[in-house]
Amino acid sequence: MDLKAAAAALKGLHAPAFRLDQVRRAVYGQTVSSYEEISVLPLDLRQELAGAAPILSFIPREIKIAPDGRARKAALVLRDGKAVETVLLKPSPQRWTACLSTQVGCAFGCVFCATGLMGLERDLTGEEISDQVLFWRQHMRREGLQDRLDNVVYMGMGEPLANYEAVAESLRSLLDPRQHGIGARHISVSTVGIPDGIARFAEDFPQVNLAVSLHAAQDDLRSRLVPANRAFPLAKLARAMEEYVGRGNRKVFLEYALLSGVNDRAGDAQDLIAFVRGLGRTELFHINLILYNPTQTPFEATAEPEARRFQKCLLDAGLKVTVRQSLGAEVRGACGQLIADRSPDVRQP
Ligand code: SF4
Repeated sequence: MDLKAAAAALKGLHAPAFRLDQVRRAVYGQTVSSYEEISVLPLDLRQELAGAAPILSFIPREIKIAPDGRARKAALVLRDGKAVETVLLKPSPQRWTACLSTQVGCAFGCVFCATGLMGLERDLTGEEISDQVLFWRQHMRREGLQDRLDNVVYMGMGEPLANYEAVAESLRSLLDPRQHGIGARHISVSTVGIPDGIARFAEDFPQVNLAVSLHAAQDDLRSRLVPANRAFPLAKLARAMEEYVGRGNRKVFLEYALLSGVNDRAGDAQDLIAFVRGLGRTELFHINLILYNPTQTPFEATAEPEARRFQKCLLDAGLKVTVRQSLGAEVRGACGQLIADRSPDVRQP
């Protein structure tokens, strides 16, 4: 929702200032899906606003819902006809998490990621990013889902720190108590590890969580999996993370998607242990081992028993590590699977 456009439209119509507050409360507080529902507004204002400042900056095209209802993926058609995907997950009984996309496609080409296969088509605007949360809140209201959506991860399509200004604008909307009002500690931004972006992010959003997609702790292997490593090798990434934790004792989440026979061997665990120990302050680094989800890429998932063995090596070395619960595979909304696919719908929004 572009509140500035709504304010300009109301001003043009000589509406009193309190009308904007009424719109804001209805959109963010009551999560109305259309101006028609804002009955306190005169009819002519509702009609004008619907044209001048649509509540959502995209049209939801389809929503897929996993059989147990805990993972939902939506395809969103943007004003220029391009499409992105966004995901809603319920990792625990009372908690809903929205996974946001920040770009149409991605230029970084991580070899295990379906989005990376698309290349970059364009950046999303701040409005298109934060509207994904608005969209899921509207969906939850329509579906009668009781619990709050108060957890957001920037882990969908795209590299957030490569679209910094728009991501920053969306974060301000999520944090603003008069808009989404989500606590900073409930928001995580994930990056392949762009050092300048990490420094800027630390300065601008010191309370928002940082996650780094590591996936390998040895340069040759990481450069093969995450090509950005050629520009920002592990030593540079390590320095950026050390500076980050040095600023405010904030924790960093290290994401590590386990690929069978590629980065899940005993030697890979030892490389990871050495890398994290080399960062100092090991208590501030938390490793998330991700059970990889099959995509169009040629990799296979590490089976859970092997993942547990890998985890045990790291735990025995005194590191903090969890195997991340895998949600969303049924709707192709799990980690690394977002590609705005056009497969048949399960349910219309
Ligand atoms: S993992 Fe993230 S940065 Fe890498 S290609 Fe996929 S979307 Fe881009």
